[in-house]
Amino acid sequence: MDSFLELLEVLRGLEGVRVWKDAPLAPFTTIATGGRAKLLVTVATVSSLVRVLAEVEARGLDWFCLGAGSNLLVADQGYRGVAVKLDQSFQYLEGLPDAGRSTEGTEGTLARSSVVLTVGAGAYLARLATVVAEAGLTGMEHACGIPGSVGGAVAMNAGACGWCMRDVVQEVELASATGDAWLPAENLEWGYRFCRLPERSVVTAVRIRLDRADPRECLARQRVYLRQRREKQPRSVRTFGSAFKNPPGQHAGRLVEAAGLKGLRRGGAEISRVHGNFLLNLGDASTADVLALMAMMREAVERTSGVVLEPEVRLLGCRFPWETGSPETATQPHSVGSCRTDDG
Ligand SMILES: Cc1cc2nc3c(=O)[nH]c(=O)nc-3n(C[C@H](O)[C@H](O)[C@H](O)COP(=O)(O)OP(=O)(O)OC[C@H]3O[C@@H](n4cnc5c(N)ncnc54)[C@H](O)[C@@H]3O)c2cc1C
Repeated sequence: MDSFLELLEVLRGLEGVRVWKDAPLAPFTTIATGGRAKLLVTVATVSSLVRVLAEVEARGLDWFCLGAGSNLLVADQGYRGVAVKLDQSFQYLEGLPDAGRSTEGTEGTLARSSVVLTVGAGAYLARLATVVAEAGLTGMEHACGIPGSVGGAVAMNAGACGWCMRDVVQEVELASATGDAWLPAENLEWGYRFCRLPERSVVTAVRIRLDRADPRECLARQRVYLRQRREKQPRSVRTFGSAFKNPPGQHAGRLVEAAGLKGLRRGGAEISRVHGNFLLNLGDASTADVLALMAMMREAVERTSGVVLEPEVRLLGCRFPWETGSPETATQPHSVGSCRTDDG
């Protein structure tokens, strides 16, 4: 029997696991392009996740952890592997104090003005940012406009305006085919939109430290950040946010604008007229359309500014055209994600 079918049968018998064959992935990404995964598996507990990973790896199959899909581009040909997703059980928050309650921190005298919260990796980052601000906890206001999951935000070291997840994460709970464990944040390597997790591991929860503050001030700061975002970024569009990382001291969007590419279309995809680093699916874009525009952006910026842009978006099931030496997108076998969060 085909390894995927055999795996499907095994996983269907596991508690806390749901599995779909030939599952379309486009609905699970914010850009909404791309094909199907051989299997899509959701898990409800850490132990079921560990079991799923063990079964997948025992068969030598490739797998990938899918978060909220807000920084992900899936190959049009799909993904010949297992997409693993944490279900709603991972959307939890523990340790939230009542708003306005004074000094008592969860760690006693160590940090009376700060609080450590435990957050499930499936929780939505933007929602978390609002909930903690309402509770009078500062440190995550910048996350209010970032649409990923907490696990994805750790894997990407998501951030904005100089703030990033590393600033608040104290510990990370990781699961792999061999088990699960908490790791101090300093044991991981963090960088700009980068966090090197242990090979083939999934973030299942994090502990974050936040400081007590006036909730009205936290929420006011969030409103300012959200307004700035609305002014600078396209709204109500299908996109994965920044296509490229900002080069040191520069803005990828401005470099694309200076190269004269804003508004350029390819098939159903467009480089935003509002923000030069945002690619939009106008309705019927393919991943090939999006990748073709990314190749044009990269080539034009190098030609006009001498800067080689580095992608921020993660690929699943394909490679960037400039990595393959061909204008066409190379397809399987390859997955940049696979929960190895090395860049590129
Ligand atoms: C409109 C818009 C605005 C954005 N603005 C910003 C911004 O200001 N700053 C910013 O940093 N990003 C921004 N992004 C990008 C995106 O929201 C972040 O990168 C986010 O952290 C991705 O999280 P995700 O859950 O969607 O991950 P996905 O897109 O699903 O996956 C991204 C990577 O994370 C890995 N991953 C996901 N979950 C886990 C997990 N639990 N364990 C291990 N690995 C995991 C995946 O395998 C993949 O390699 C924006 C996106 C959009 C659409």
